[in-house]
Amino acid sequence: MMDTQAKQIVFEQLQQLLHDRIIDNETIRNEHGVGFSYHACTPPDYVVYPSSTEEISEIVKICATHQISIIPFGAGTSVEGHILALKGGVCIDLRLMNQMLEINQADMYATIQPGVTRNQLDEALQGSGFFFPIGPGVNATLGGMASTRASGTNAVRYGTMKENVLSLEVVLANGQIIRTGSKAKKSSAGYDLTHLFVGAEGTLGVITELTIKLHSYPQAIYAAVCSFPTVEAAVNTAIQTIQKGIPMAKIELLDAQMMTAINCYSALSYAEVPTLFLEFHGSQTELEEQITQVEAIAHSFDANEFIWEKDEAARIKLWRARTDAAPASVALRKDGQLMSTDVCVPISRLAKCITETQKDIQETDIYAPILGHVGDGNFHLTIVIDPNDPEEFEKAKALNKRLVKRALAMEGTCTGEHGIGIGKLSYMTLEHGKAIHTMWAIKQALDPLNLMNPGKLLPSLD
Ligand SMILES: Cc1cc2nc3c(=O)[nH]c(=O)nc-3n(C[C@H](O)[C@H](O)[C@H](O)COP(=O)(O)OP(=O)(O)OC[C@H]3O[C@@H](n4cnc5c(N)ncnc54)[C@H](O)[C@@H]3O)c2cc1C
Repeated sequence: MMDTQAKQIVFEQLQQLLHDRIIDNETIRNEHGVGFSYHACTPPDYVVYPSSTEEISEIVKICATHQISIIPFGAGTSVEGHILALKGGVCIDLRLMNQMLEINQADMYATIQPGVTRNQLDEALQGSGFFFPIGPGVNATLGGMASTRASGTNAVRYGTMKENVLSLEVVLANGQIIRTGSKAKKSSAGYDLTHLFVGAEGTLGVITELTIKLHSYPQAIYAAVCSFPTVEAAVNTAIQTIQKGIPMAKIELLDAQMMTAINCYSALSYAEVPTLFLEFHGSQTELEEQITQVEAIAHSFDANEFIWEKDEAARIKLWRARTDAAPASVALRKDGQLMSTDVCVPISRLAKCITETQKDIQETDIYAPILGHVGDGNFHLTIVIDPNDPEEFEKAKALNKRLVKRALAMEGTCTGEHGIGIGKLSYMTLEHGKAIHTMWAIKQALDPLNLMNPGKLLPSLD
């Protein structure tokens, strides 16, 4: 924590730089102290709103001089306690840095500031013939998405943020401004610094500009919903579809509990049984071929008839219901609190991992609908707990721990897309072993004073 004198000096210096764009009011600090995580709110001492890379560099230099922690902040939608100010300090809210700097159609990239949100990017690209496929179920910023190596429903076809960031501008922990990567599609030039910062959760520097890949808007898009007698049948359909190399754009699993939640929340009347939500991108001919193949696979696992949505409005409604799955689960429990978790396993292990987890959920007697980006082997438990019931909270944490250990035993990872924050810290050594020391060596080289988002991503070595 900052001592009072240092706090006052830092406040005065930041105020001189930013004028009224530094805030110490309690409401704003608390809004920046928890995000969508289930952890207790831990606010920063100040929230600052820079409007340029140079200002961020100056903020970082002031903080470095007084050894004050820095927490970069996008939209605060991360779920594992990523933005908690564990040592107090200065939260850098990037919302004013939300300019679209360049949309380059010839080379299929966009250069943007980190505070540009997912919806803003969609709007800017509308009518251009291009789109950016990566997106979580909420309106996150692109800087936050890069920093958590986010993905979402389209990752099965288009990859995650890892595959879609070409280059970055970053302010390092000493205030130095660097550029990583280039606008070329590939490069063999040196260490891949771009992808060191993608997924670093603000622990190595502040991303102040991103160049991201754009994709051509598909000629045709069809979506479908298909229900199954068991979760295993639905997951096996997904597995076989991927193993046969059918280029699905989306293949999402919702279990029976989740179907009940979305029916109630979005006034729908789907069968409340395990269901796949699917999307196909391509030319008309390609789609007809893919659809025939996927229908045959699904029927071999006793699927019911597909409900097709070829019209754009109906398709958007279908995916809106899927996107609202997390709030829909929360809405089913009065005063419930979301405790979202995710793991990812090699695709051949997915059915076993999900069925064992379902059994565990039933035995634990916790409300935890399953939602999966199953084409990637990635799934979520949208656990909803009573925040005032410590016993239930402990049961949910134990369920989460068993889930992670199950995924790791299957050679998977403790998180496919949500990241580590503080919620998954205790699994890092289990997953990475001695490689944690290499990660710490990188951290110490780039941030020797441990000022950048301290206490996140890397477990302490004691
Ligand atoms: C309902 C719901 C659904 C979700 N669905 C998905 C999903 O499908 N897929 C998925 O991947 N995630 C999902 N998420 C999680 C969340 O949306 C992502 O983690 C997202 O990438 C966070 O972006 P943000 O802008 O909110 O970042 P924040 O929460 O503000 O920050 C996240 C982390 O990035 C750091 N950071 C932010 N901006 C910068 C920057 N410019 N430079 C350096 N570090 C920075 C922060 O310090 C923090 O560590 C979901 C969350 C919710 C609540």
